[in-house]
Amino acid sequence: MKFSELGLSSDLLQALDYMGFEKATPVQEQAIPAILSNQDLLACAQTGTGKTAAFILPILNKLVGKEDSKINTLIIVPTRELALQIDKEIQGLSYFVSVGSMAIYGGGDGAGFNEQKAALVEGRDIIVATPGKLLSHLNLGYVNFDHVQHLILDEADKMLDMGFHDDLHKIISYLPKKRQNLLFSATMAPKMHALARKILHSPKEIRLSISKPAAGIAQGVYFVFDEQKDKVLVHSLEERKEYTSIILFTSSKDKVYQITRMLHTKGFKAKGISSNLDQEEREEVLRKFRSKRIPILVATDVLSRGIDIKDINLVINYDVPMDAEDYVHRIGRTARANTKGEAITLVNPKDMRRFKSIENLIEKEVPVLKVPEEFGETPKYEVGKSKPKRKFHRKPKGKPKKSN
Ligand code: AMP
Repeated sequence: MKFSELGLSSDLLQALDYMGFEKATPVQEQAIPAILSNQDLLACAQTGTGKTAAFILPILNKLVGKEDSKINTLIIVPTRELALQIDKEIQGLSYFVSVGSMAIYGGGDGAGFNEQKAALVEGRDIIVATPGKLLSHLNLGYVNFDHVQHLILDEADKMLDMGFHDDLHKIISYLPKKRQNLLFSATMAPKMHALARKILHSPKEIRLSISKPAAGIAQGVYFVFDEQKDKVLVHSLEERKEYTSIILFTSSKDKVYQITRMLHTKGFKAKGISSNLDQEEREEVLRKFRSKRIPILVATDVLSRGIDIKDINLVINYDVPMDAEDYVHRIGRTARANTKGEAITLVNPKDMRRFKSIENLIEKEVPVLKVPEEFGETPKYEVGKSKPKRKFHRKPKGKPKKSN
């Protein structure tokens, strides 16, 4: 569907044109009219579906012509990276509309805090905030939320996973009772429904198939022993020397730096990112990766949700993610909005069962990639072998034979 059919103002259509968005994605098609007609919304949509623009566009449309700077819309998100990314998308889409926004997040210095405080005191049309930092500002008493008309919780499932349940409710207690509420989540676990019941009023529900990776992703799996992982990784990277943007996910911070060091010794340009780095350092690494000065980013799961980096050629799961849904999120970094990409997973015998649950979730057998013979024997993909049933010796039917 064309954006012009969705009732958006010409200024927004022009910005969409500049950004090269030609057609609305399915979540945009469904969410935009509902938000424009002031309905509450419960949307189950993963990152990569265009969900951010799905809520920003109609909000911007409502803000066209607003003259004061009172805080009109509050967007709450789990991480500072997502806050910054959404703020950037607001700036892009509102290029021809005069709208002010501010990202409020922790981890910065005193100057950053004062700048955030000033924005909250003066007012901005849209505030995008992480829960903890927003509460610290709210507790200091200078934030006026009396004019908030829209509350958006993005990646609400992730916020609950991170333990923000109580903080969210505290923040909501500062908002006017009459407002429009939009809840976006990648998954719909029971606790999400509980939150939805508390916050939303007769919401329109949108469910996109959350467990299906985008169709443009070529997935592959190597079954390997742990000691073969590095070799297979180097082999895969050497086969794809022309790729400019590769993310590798691993299970722990320690491994991030081990793998990064190993890649350096093999002559690859790679950088690690994890919560070990402070805010500035993380942003610096992300900036260099975005601008393709570093082609390989090695990360823990912190990055797998929400962060939008365009044109990823390849996602490598050095370890199988703990949660099958996280696999979909991780590989969702590639093939965004109808482009093509690749995802390779390295699976050791211990992780085979978990990998099977991923295949069950995505309802697809991931094609097996061949490990070069010189790397030695590889494990067989075997899962779910139940214990052999005990055999009962049945008595033979009929009369027992008489023994002599
Ligand atoms: P999101 O799911 O919000 O993280 O968006 C994924 C990416 O798709 C972002 O880079 C958006 O800028 C981009 N995008 C969103 N909507 C569209 C669209 N209708 N056409 C092309 N790209 C889009």
